[in-house]
Amino acid sequence: MTTEMGQENRRIIVIDDNEAIHKDFRKILCRKDSRELDKLEAMIFDGDGENGPKGESPSFAMDSAFQGQEGVERVRDALKAHRPYAVAFVDMRMPPGWDGLETIERLWEADSGLQVVICTAYSDYSWESMLDKACQRDKLLILKKPFDNVEVLQLATALTTKWDLARCAALRMSELEEMVATRTSELVQANEHKSRFLASMSHELRTPLNSILGFTDLLLEQYFGALNEKQTAYLTQVDQSGKHLLALVNDLLDLVKIDAGAAKLHLAQFPPSACLASTVNMMRTQFDEKQLKVRIKVDSELTFLIGDLRKCKQIVINLLSNAVKYTPEGGSIDVLAEKIGPATAKISVADTGMGIAADQQEHIFSEFYQADQVRDEHLGGTGIGLALTRRLVELHKGDIGVESELGKGSNFWFTLPLEDAGLKMAGRRENEKDVKPLFIPNVRILVVEDNENNIDVLKDMLDMFGLTAAIARNGKEALDIVETFQPDLILMDLLMPVMDGYEATRRIREIPAFRHVPILALTASADSVAIERCFQAGCTEHLAKPIQSRALFAVIQKSLAESARTAETGSVPKTRDAGHKP
Ligand code: ADP
Repeated sequence: MTTEMGQENRRIIVIDDNEAIHKDFRKILCRKDSRELDKLEAMIFDGDGENGPKGESPSFAMDSAFQGQEGVERVRDALKAHRPYAVAFVDMRMPPGWDGLETIERLWEADSGLQVVICTAYSDYSWESMLDKACQRDKLLILKKPFDNVEVLQLATALTTKWDLARCAALRMSELEEMVATRTSELVQANEHKSRFLASMSHELRTPLNSILGFTDLLLEQYFGALNEKQTAYLTQVDQSGKHLLALVNDLLDLVKIDAGAAKLHLAQFPPSACLASTVNMMRTQFDEKQLKVRIKVDSELTFLIGDLRKCKQIVINLLSNAVKYTPEGGSIDVLAEKIGPATAKISVADTGMGIAADQQEHIFSEFYQADQVRDEHLGGTGIGLALTRRLVELHKGDIGVESELGKGSNFWFTLPLEDAGLKMAGRRENEKDVKPLFIPNVRILVVEDNENNIDVLKDMLDMFGLTAAIARNGKEALDIVETFQPDLILMDLLMPVMDGYEATRRIREIPAFRHVPILALTASADSVAIERCFQAGCTEHLAKPIQSRALFAVIQKSLAESARTAETGSVPKTRDAGHKP
């Protein structure tokens, strides 16, 4: 190891109030001062002193200080000049100044890498208390006076070499740390590029895919003429492949969003059935197609779950889709929700399918891993569902796992914390805590809203109470789908691009079938002119944003009841402001 000057560091400082001691050290350590030294070194390195030194003998550059203060100053100056000392020999008693222990403490404050030998003839301190006081025991040795010359020389040689090695290790460590930091920032950048690339690719793919699927659907519906058998078969293939690709692109986008930290949780407290029963119902046709028996069991102790309802549903859908995919016809699927601790819920999806070999179970949660690529792709797999599911569970601070036996079936499970566990409830739990689930069966709500955050919140609220929702992102989209979706009630934002809510409401009222459907205006302001305008356009109620779930459900319930009465009596519904009296 070398110092700045490119040589090994053999610089030693002796701190002692006794002039004679310095002379002794100089004799031992500085070869040109004494031919005796050659003999000593030869004894150390060759085993005898007779043949004289062979090769390079150790020689040291020695400086002297006569008090602790002076020694510390010299050490400080040497460090500043990039010529640090490797070793200090420090006397224990140096009246009138600091004693040896105080001196070495200050020496280490000035240069923490300095190796120190404390030299003493007196028992001012016991060895134990001396060592106790020394903060860097690994850099301290004790030398008892009177000295043995060979011992001093050997100490100097060993400690300067130790200093060199320590410096070498420190440099290597800082080089390594620098390399790790550079590599980490390269990886972060590469990951960001990957995420940006995937996000823009997914976006670019989604737009044309939507038109492929839209036009295929129109052709398959035979609006523009009958199709022959082959055309139907080909178009069905296009439709299936397009949907598969769209699912993959959507999963990829979700994955990228989570990895980029952009996925937000809209946490709420909801009954387990809001997540399980409604998901199972949604997938009923898939189960029926394969004649799979599905059972749901909810532990009576588990009265609620906490999570982002839509994302929790996505987790369950992913697990159920795999159970359907990998279970042969006539099998069964058991969904179980239970409490496994005071603050933990566990949800499992167990199937009687083909199972997963033990050595593959740890890999299946990685992106694009498939136990049997040909088989799994043939079954419609993309290899991304479980990777996304794992991310969604981890986002909730839960765990995910599987127990499986080849040929017998698999049991996938995930846990959810039942308390905030550091997740912010954003005030929503408070507002919703005494809302009783409505579970109005078969009610369809059309949400007309352009703001994605508001859409998420409204969807969650409606989901939670088992209401089916469709989204239109402006008035024109609402008009496009209102007749096919046949909503029982419409939530209408007023200020939107393309066509605003006033115009959309007027046009919807012109369609005879929707003359009496409740249209609830969602307004950002509670100003009376805007409210008056929305009633004139044909809205039946008005709700001021931010929407509170209690107010929303109260007004939905009332509106539906009124609408039912209107349908019975044929009378025109009243309009009024519901925004301020939930
Ligand atoms: P895929 O879209 O291929 O199903 P996933 O990420 O959802 O991708 O699952 C990864 C792999 O794990 C699958 O390809 C399959 O081999 C295996 N797997 C997942 N769920 C099951 C299950 N219920 N039974 C058997 N194998 C499964």
